[in-house]
Amino acid sequence: MKSQTKLTNLDELVFDNCFIRELPADEETLNNRRQVIGACYSRVKPTAVKKPQRVAYSKEVAALLNLSEEACEADNFTKTLSGNALLTGMDPYATCYGGHQFGNWAGQLGDGRAINLGEIINHSGERWALQLKGAGPTPYSRNADGLAVLRSSVREFLCSEAMHHLGAPTTRALSLMLTGESVIRDMFYTGHPKAEPGAVVCRVAPSFTRFGSFQILTARQDISLLKKLVDYTIRTDFPHLGTPTPSTYIDWFTEICKKTAEMILHWQRIGFVHGVMNTDNMSILGLTIDYGPYGWLENYDPNWTPNTTDSQERRYRFGNQPQIAFWNLGQLANAIYPLIEQAEPLQQAMNVYTKTFETGWQDMMASKLGLKAYNPETDDDLFSELLALLQLVETDMTLFYRQLAKIDCSLSIPLNDADFNAAFIHLSPSYYVLEQLTPSYKTHLNNWLNRYSQRIQNDKTSNAARYQQMSKVNPKYILRNYLAQLAIDEAENGDFSMINELLELLRHPYEEQIDKEKFAAKRPDWARQRAGCSMLSCSS
Ligand code: AMP
Ligand code: MG
Repeated sequence: MKSQTKLTNLDELVFDNCFIRELPADEETLNNRRQVIGACYSRVKPTAVKKPQRVAYSKEVAALLNLSEEACEADNFTKTLSGNALLTGMDPYATCYGGHQFGNWAGQLGDGRAINLGEIINHSGERWALQLKGAGPTPYSRNADGLAVLRSSVREFLCSEAMHHLGAPTTRALSLMLTGESVIRDMFYTGHPKAEPGAVVCRVAPSFTRFGSFQILTARQDISLLKKLVDYTIRTDFPHLGTPTPSTYIDWFTEICKKTAEMILHWQRIGFVHGVMNTDNMSILGLTIDYGPYGWLENYDPNWTPNTTDSQERRYRFGNQPQIAFWNLGQLANAIYPLIEQAEPLQQAMNVYTKTFETGWQDMMASKLGLKAYNPETDDDLFSELLALLQLVETDMTLFYRQLAKIDCSLSIPLNDADFNAAFIHLSPSYYVLEQLTPSYKTHLNNWLNRYSQRIQNDKTSNAARYQQMSKVNPKYILRNYLAQLAIDEAENGDFSMINELLELLRHPYEEQIDKEKFAAKRPDWARQRAGCSMLSCSS
C-alpha cells in the first residue's frame, strides 16, 4: 500500500497546520521584537545559515514521521532542518507565551529562538509538530540572538532521546545540525564571551503548548482568546474529553495534573533534574520540555541542582521538583480560573496531583526495590531509611539501585560477616569516597540490608525474579553529565562519533551492553568541578 511506505524524501511530508489555521495570528509580519497582543503566534522564517552540516539524527523520530533513512541522508534534510530551506506546506511561526521565572511573573517570553515549521499527520494518524531551536530571531527574542550553540544543542538532542527510551514523557529530537556560523556566549556570565559553533535541533512533539501559553492571555485579560486556546487544545490534544464546556475544562485540568505528576515521578525515578522549571517550560501534555541546564544525579543528594543560575535559592533542586510542579499547576489553575469561576474543582484537581504523586511514589519506590507491592505497614520506614543511607556517604544513585538488584536476599537473617561483605562488594562501585566507608556507615548499611532482605523474603521473591524486575525500572545507562560533556568536547573538534555512540547506547538504557560497560561508570574525579559536568548555566 503506497500510503504506508516510508517517504524517501522530506519533501513528501504533507503538512496540516492546525495551530495556525484555528488560532489568531499576529497581524504584524516584520521580524522585530515586540509585545504581541491578541494573537497566539507570529509568522517568522528561519534565518539562513552559512554552511549547514548534519551531525546526527534519530531514526526512531524519523520513523514517527514515516521518513526513510534515505530521506534523512539527503541534502534537503540538512538544508531544511538547519533553516536554509522551506518545504511546500510549511508555514513557519513562533508562539506567544509568558511565564513565571524562578517564582516571579516575567510577562511575555515566547518562542525567542524556536520556530515551528508545521505539523504533519503520520501513517498512524498521529499529529506531530516540527520545531527548529536556534534558527534565528523572532518577535519574541527580546534582547537575545535567537541562536543556540553546539554544546547545548548536543545536550538537548541526546537527552530528549535518552529520556524517551528511559520511559519518561518528553519532546523528541529529530536532528542536530551545525550551522557553520559562530555564536557568542558568556558561559557563566562572568564577562568572558567566547565564539562557539552554532547549531540547530529539530524538536518534535504533538504540541509545544506550555502553561505560560495560557498565563499570558489571562495576564492581559484577553479571556476570549484564552477560551479559544483552551478549546483548541482540548479539541486537538485531548479529544477524548469531548466538547469543551466548563466541566470539560475541569476534566482537562485534572488530566494535566495527573500527567504532570506522572512526568515528575519518572524524573525522580531516574534521577533527572530539569534545572529550570519555570512555567514557560511546563508542557501542557506533561512532556519534559526545554533541555537547558539539566543534569543527572550522581551521588544521591536531594539538594542538588546543576543550574549555577539557581545556586543560591536552589529552587529547582532534585528534591523540590514535586513541590514546584504543584506550584506551577497552581499558576495554571489561576490562569484558567476565568473560564470556570469556581475555586473548589480546581483545588480538587490539584489534590489529584498530590494523590497521584504520593501513590505513584510509593509504587515507584517499591518497584525500584523489587517489592511485589507497596505495603504501608513496613515500607515507609524501609524507603526513608534507604534515602537517609544514600546520603550518609556519596553514593551514586543509578549504580546503587542497579547493584542492589544483584545482592543475595535469600540468606539467613541477620547476615553474617561474609554475607554482608559479599553484598558490600556488589554495592562498592557506587561509592565516590572510599574514606567515607567507616565502620559506622557499614553498620547502617548492614541494618538496612537485613531489613530489606527480610522484606524480600516476606514477599517470597527469588533473586532472579527480583533482578529482572529491578532492571526494568533502574537504568544501567543514563546520559551522565560527564559523558555528554565528553561528546561535546569531541564534537567541538569536529568528531561526532561519540554523539552517535551515546545515541545508540541510550536506545537501550535498561539492558546490559557488554562492550559499553565504561559508559555505566560513575563520574570520574576530573568531572567533579568541571564546567558542563556538574555546573551549567542558562547560557546556551
Ligand atoms: P529558557 O530559559 O531557555 O526556557 O528561555 C526563556 C526565554 O528566553 C524563552 O522565551 C526563550 O525563547 C528565550 N531565549 C532563551 N535563549 C534565547 C536566545 N538565545 N535568543 C532568543 N531568545 C532566547
Ligand atoms: Mg524555555
